[in-house]
Amino acid sequence: MLHRKRRLFGALAAVVAAASFVGVVHASERAGSGRTAKAPPLVIAIHGGAGTMSRAEFTPESEARYRAGLSAALDAGYAVLERGGAALDAVEAAVRVLEDDPSFNAGKGAVFTWDGRNELDSSIMDGATRKAGAVTGVQHVKNPVTLARRVMEKSPHVLLSGAGAEDFALEQGIELVPRSYFWTERRWQMLQKFREETTAQRAANPAYRYGTVGAVALDSHGRLAAATSTGGMTGKRWGRIGDAPLIGAGTWADSRVAVSATGDGEYFIRAGVAKDIAARMQYAGAPVKDAARAAIGTVGELGGTGGVIALDANGGVAFELNSEGMYRGVRDSRGRFIRRRAGSRKHADPAAGLLHRGDRGLGSPG
Ligand code: ASP
Repeated sequence: MLHRKRRLFGALAAVVAAASFVGVVHASERAGSGRTAKAPPLVIAIHGGAGTMSRAEFTPESEARYRAGLSAALDAGYAVLERGGAALDAVEAAVRVLEDDPSFNAGKGAVFTWDGRNELDSSIMDGATRKAGAVTGVQHVKNPVTLARRVMEKSPHVLLSGAGAEDFALEQGIELVPRSYFWTERRWQMLQKFREETTAQRAANPAYRYGTVGAVALDSHGRLAAATSTGGMTGKRWGRIGDAPLIGAGTWADSRVAVSATGDGEYFIRAGVAKDIAARMQYAGAPVKDAARAAIGTVGELGGTGGVIALDANGGVAFELNSEGMYRGVRDSRGRFIRRRAGSRKHADPAAGLLHRGDRGLGSPG
């Protein structure tokens, strides 16, 4: 009798264990030698910038606005994937929503340069073809991510800058707006404060660049794509360019992984973060989570802060950060999850929790 009970218990435990690892089994099956007929999972993950917001900025209202913006972006990207669209279209759609939302430091809500202008940077990459496009320092382009895509598809180049990029935008019929479109009270006040502060005070305040956006997606054909868009850093001068428009630093996509970064751009450039993650996966066979953690570790060793979102070809998502927080979210067939704080450890990987523990739901704390 006791023996039978034990056997029954053992069988039950096996069923429970199998059920709770559905995500993992599912993923590794797909990674196998084609034994499975399962289509790739549809996944989109996004970020809305790393750092912490100042107390004045971090109110329940602003939190709700950020979350609403991220939800809308996730839904826009996921809708593309659900109707069989390309990962490239999904990341562009998601980033456009965030560019149009004044909460984020991209498009409409871009931070001001020292001279009181808005200079926007963006890049996009298609993992299936390794084609990429990027723009930097544009001042009249409503959705820089769309211009970046146009550079990729309609020019022989990868990266266009400033006035030349805008000439190209004009030729391509890309939506242009007057500079005043990008003026927001909040970002203007931020610039005034920046101008009054010392270099040390500025360095200690991540709010000056908070809100860069990015997206990574995996479509029904197993294709990956990544895109990033930003206004850069408040008070930037001399045509400063960060990592966001640089392929291999702020953005990368190939057949293994799609990456979008946010943080102290100079350090992300020096660490070659996005390509470093891909290289660790390619050369060392590192899982996406370990690769992302190691790359952010390098940023930290150099003295920088920030985070990345990285998505592998099996739908595994890594969110790695060494800053106090990073707005981030993911949507797949199981729903939508949004989070801000780092988690219990500095290098926490909330993705593992949200994708494999079923711990999800819109508006959940943290
Ligand atoms: N990485 C961006 C830059 O350096 C800023 C950010 O992500 O917060 O321009």
